[in-house]
Amino acid sequence: MRDSVIAPILLGWYDRHARALPWRVPPHSGGVADPYRIWLSEVMLQQTTVAAVRDYFHRFTTRWPTVTDLAAAADGDVMAEWAGLGYYARARNLLACARRVAGDLGGVFPDSMDGLRALPGIGPYTAAAIAAIAFDRPETVVDGNVERVIARLHAETAAMPAVKPRLRALAARHTPLDRPGDYAQAVMDLGATVCTPRKPACAICPLREPCAAHAAGIAAELPARAPKTVRPRRFGTVYAACRADGAWLLETRPPKGLLGGMLGLPGGAWAETAPQASPPLAADWRDVGATVRHVFTHFELTLTVLTARLPQSVAAPLGLAWSAPGFRADDLPSVMAKALRLAAAQD
Ligand code: SF4
Repeated sequence: MRDSVIAPILLGWYDRHARALPWRVPPHSGGVADPYRIWLSEVMLQQTTVAAVRDYFHRFTTRWPTVTDLAAAADGDVMAEWAGLGYYARARNLLACARRVAGDLGGVFPDSMDGLRALPGIGPYTAAAIAAIAFDRPETVVDGNVERVIARLHAETAAMPAVKPRLRALAARHTPLDRPGDYAQAVMDLGATVCTPRKPACAICPLREPCAAHAAGIAAELPARAPKTVRPRRFGTVYAACRADGAWLLETRPPKGLLGGMLGLPGGAWAETAPQASPPLAADWRDVGATVRHVFTHFELTLTVLTARLPQSVAAPLGLAWSAPGFRADDLPSVMAKALRLAAAQD
């Protein structure tokens, strides 16, 4: 059954307090959301904060203002612009999706859940977000912010993640037929700015009256979490070779798998015990004396970094290349950038 109490309160609050975001059309501005910009922002925001996404979004939309422009971009250019944003499968799917929309759909994004779900890299959450925000469809958009608001509003004390389906069903009850796109953004904004994880600002919250967790004094404890599992650890080695002119020896990682298609330092596979990786060429390799620790979603990686200085005349081994002039550590994925900075600091 649809609950018609919450949406009008939140929409009224959103009209006064909506966050200004570069991809967003402010409420009652008369503007029309651009599905390309909504899609791009939603893909970038998967697992990533608004603060981290802003600059990337600006650079992407300046360089590729439409989905057709992005579809025509070279893979390497898009991967380089994405460097540092993490979760690189998103960048590969981004290109595949742009090319599908530009090639098969005449540059027009579908406006239905089914049409959106059929595109690469668009799962149920992203499809609902695009359908609601770009096309004002009454889809229920449930991210971490929304789960928190709903768990508290209903004082739902069962632990995550098992409680997720229940939270989704409760959230769906509140989704209005009027302004569903603004409503979706309103709940997310409330979770991001008022109903925050550790210290919910109940005193200024528009949902203070109907909120069951606030009434029970348990807001900050929700949503309840199951005990944490320990992330498995993996180990690897990278070889940071620097030529006399300052160029670094780089590999393009295989297209599939973690960091697929991105530039990186050569090295072996990552494994549960420290693997023996062969150096890419003969040189006086030295351990930099510190390791790189990087946390991925499903494991924690410790990289040993070896570095060597090489004369200008050394050719890159087959499959590797010396970096181009102007190359910076920031052009690499974060874990590789950390390793390169460690090696560069050895001078
Ligand atoms: Fe969150 Fe407090 Fe508002 Fe309830 S009253 S929705 S706990 S901020």
